[in-house]
Amino acid sequence: MRLYNTLTKRKEEFVPLEEGKVKMYVCGPTVYNFIHIGNARPMIVFDTVRRYFEYKGYEVNYVSNFTDVDDKIIKKAIEEGISAQEVSERYIEECKKDMAGMNVKPATTHPKATEEISGMIEMIQGLIDKGYAYEKNGTVYYRTRKFQDYGKLSHKNLDDLRSGERSLLVTGQDEKEDSLDFVLWKPKKEGEPAWKSPWCDGRPGWHIECSEMAKKYLGEQIDIHAGGEDLVFPHHENEIAQSEAANGKEFAKYWMHNAFLNIDNRKMSKSLGNFRTVREISGQYDLQVLRFFMLSAHYRSPLNFSAELMQASKNGLERILTAVSNLNYLMDNAGKEELTEDEKEKLEQAGKYVNQFEEAMDDDFNTADALSSIFEIVKFANTTVNDESSKAYMRKLKEMTVKLADVLGLIVEKKEEMLDEDIEALILERQEARKAKNFARADEIRDELAEKGIILEDTREGVKWKRA
Ligand SMILES: [Zn+2]
Repeated sequence: MRLYNTLTKRKEEFVPLEEGKVKMYVCGPTVYNFIHIGNARPMIVFDTVRRYFEYKGYEVNYVSNFTDVDDKIIKKAIEEGISAQEVSERYIEECKKDMAGMNVKPATTHPKATEEISGMIEMIQGLIDKGYAYEKNGTVYYRTRKFQDYGKLSHKNLDDLRSGERSLLVTGQDEKEDSLDFVLWKPKKEGEPAWKSPWCDGRPGWHIECSEMAKKYLGEQIDIHAGGEDLVFPHHENEIAQSEAANGKEFAKYWMHNAFLNIDNRKMSKSLGNFRTVREISGQYDLQVLRFFMLSAHYRSPLNFSAELMQASKNGLERILTAVSNLNYLMDNAGKEELTEDEKEKLEQAGKYVNQFEEAMDDDFNTADALSSIFEIVKFANTTVNDESSKAYMRKLKEMTVKLADVLGLIVEKKEEMLDEDIEALILERQEARKAKNFARADEIRDELAEKGIILEDTREGVKWKRA
């Protein structure tokens, strides 16, 4: 498996720190509003990376944070007359709903910055003790020039950065020793959430949050650190400076970044008013279509969101869904059970598309080519399956399609929703069966309902049910 490493600017063979395991940290959203489709791209891309590692047999420890203390959250809280915590909790919940809609798996851990403050204070103190940070009037700054490797991720030259920044120095910032020094801890302002610290009541800077959460949940060294390319500088550069100075070892081995998402060929921005939230999109399209769209381009290529491309994605997804549903229908009506010799040979031919899929994904997660391989299987199924085909043959082709689509997080087999009255009729039948001591039938009904995502609970007041 080869992946592009922003640190070395080339594709490298993936070698895990620990055999069979992947430790991965992905910077999560700041939760002050519904997530927009720019936030959705890294969520979908790196969820797919995770799924592919799992498909290859790796155990993935996937950590993605919620930044739940930030100026934007505080501003929103003041506007609405509620606490910052109420704002962040509300939008964490909403974000999780959107993630579920996009079939993004929950992370192994979703730490919240506000619950990790004591660890951040410890890390900052450690940096002060080592001379990498200093305090001025309650604010703690990172001493950037002390970290020799500063700029290694963004491939920026420190002197160029400094001369560019000098003119930006404004009053209040001159307490910094150097224009490139950045904030690790800052004093609270009136009405802001704050925590006690050795320096003042205040809150952490954004960069230190990720350094601490990565360390706490994954350790001092991780395999992959990922996020949108807008985070390379300064966020990820600063994370490296903090973590490597504090821990005394290389922080992340591979740095992965997804490219920008434009809307109708323009950058998404507040001033253009073209921000699109995932929630809005979900009113127009199934979010599976959004997921398909995001994966239809390589993650390092800029992607343009437009009605035409979404329609094309919708059609593409529909083609796979139709093929799978046709196979299901034909399987129900198949005359033969077992594979014929000819079918065995055909399956071997179809196997080459699985290899193509893996080759594409092994080459820096080329999801666009991986999707093409799935279409090849769909085409193969459409042209080789007929009334004479055996059930086993069709099942194999279906399993191949569903499995590869699942690696991309695409759900291509529609689970039919049961109507309430049908569920209740079955529950009644089950009770009758139990009364008649026909437990086999009663169990069968329970299993049938479970398969459709209906969970039964026997209570004193009778049987209750809910959708999983
Ligand atoms: Zn981060």
